[in-house]
This record gives sequence, C-alpha cells and structure tokens, in this order.
Amino acid sequence: MEKNVQERANEILKMDYEEIEQAYNELLESSEPESFQILLILLSSGDVIHTQKAADILALKGDPKYLSEMKEIRGKLPERRGLRDYRWTVDRAIEILENVRKAAKCRCELYETQSGFGERFIPSVEQRDGIVSIAKEVVHQEEYFTEYFCKCNICGRRWKVLDEIGYHYPLYSWEEITDKREYDTYFENND
Ligand SMILES: [Zn+2]
Repeated sequence: MEKNVQERANEILKMDYEEIEQAYNELLESSEPESFQILLILLSSGDVIHTQKAADILALKGDPKYLSEMKEIRGKLPERRGLRDYRWTVDRAIEILENVRKAAKCRCELYETQSGFGERFIPSVEQRDGIVSIAKEVVHQEEYFTEYFCKCNICGRRWKVLDEIGYHYPLYSWEEITDKREYDTYFENND
C-alpha cells in the first residue's frame, strides 16, 4: 500500500456499496500494518456503515494489538439515531479481540458468559465467520421463534441458540447442550 493511509481511508469512505465490499475484503486479507491503520481511521469515522464494517473486519483479522486504540475510538464515537446502536458492533469486536488476547482458541467462552438474550452473537454471522456450523434449524412457527443447533468448529462444543424476534432487531440466547440424547438428535451422531 503506497498511498498514505489517510488518503486510502478517505477513498473508501466515498465508495459505493460494491466497491466497499471489495475494499474491506482487501483490508481483511492484508497483513500489512497499514491495513490496521486504515481500519482504525474508518472505525473512527462515526459513519454507521463504515464504523461497523471496520469493527467486523478488525474482529475477523483477530489481532488484539490495537485494542487500546479501538477502545479510545469507541469512547469518542457519536451517538446516532437508529433502532440499534451502531457502537455495539464496536463493543462486540472489542470483546472478541479481548478473548483472542486471553489466548482463547474459539468464542465459546463468550457465548457462555452472555446472560440471557443478547444481540451480539448471531448464529448465521458466527457461521459466516467460520466459527461455528449450524447443524440444524428448527422453526417454531406458532411460537414465533427458531432454535439453531450449532457446533463450534474449533473445540466442538455444541450450542442451542434461541432467537427472540419481538424487538426491533433479533436477540439470541446461547445455551450449551450437555444432554447426550439432544446431541444425537440434532447432530447425527457425529463424534
Ligand atoms: Zn469452541
């Protein structure tokens, strides 16, 4: 990356949607220190799209080196109107990177320490990020909720995730499955 990091960040801030995806993918794949600098500038932009996108990419890059910068930026992000506070995505990234710093190999401890329903860990997103696999989804139409049976790709712990769609955005609760019969029902006897 030859361009000055600030110039590159400004370019990304002006891009249209399709270019944005491409630019963030490049930042995800880059191991150059500049990629982190650019992401931190985007994170601090306070733009609802870019701040969240940068937070997600920083979490995926999985390097906790910039945690203190991220926390400082989080503290200065302006409040914006919206059903869901965009700054929560930054909180999620910070939580994920703190977990990495503790040398955790997966996110199971984060799922475990969530109490009740939360917006942070969404099964489809965890699967997209390659952290868990959803073995089965059971839709309870009458009761308006879905159960997601997930397995951690790294340590193999199994989770039953319930959604709660009565809010403006869905919430999820994560509960470990320790019952052998429940395992077998939803995970097809694989190990
Ligand atoms: Zn795990």
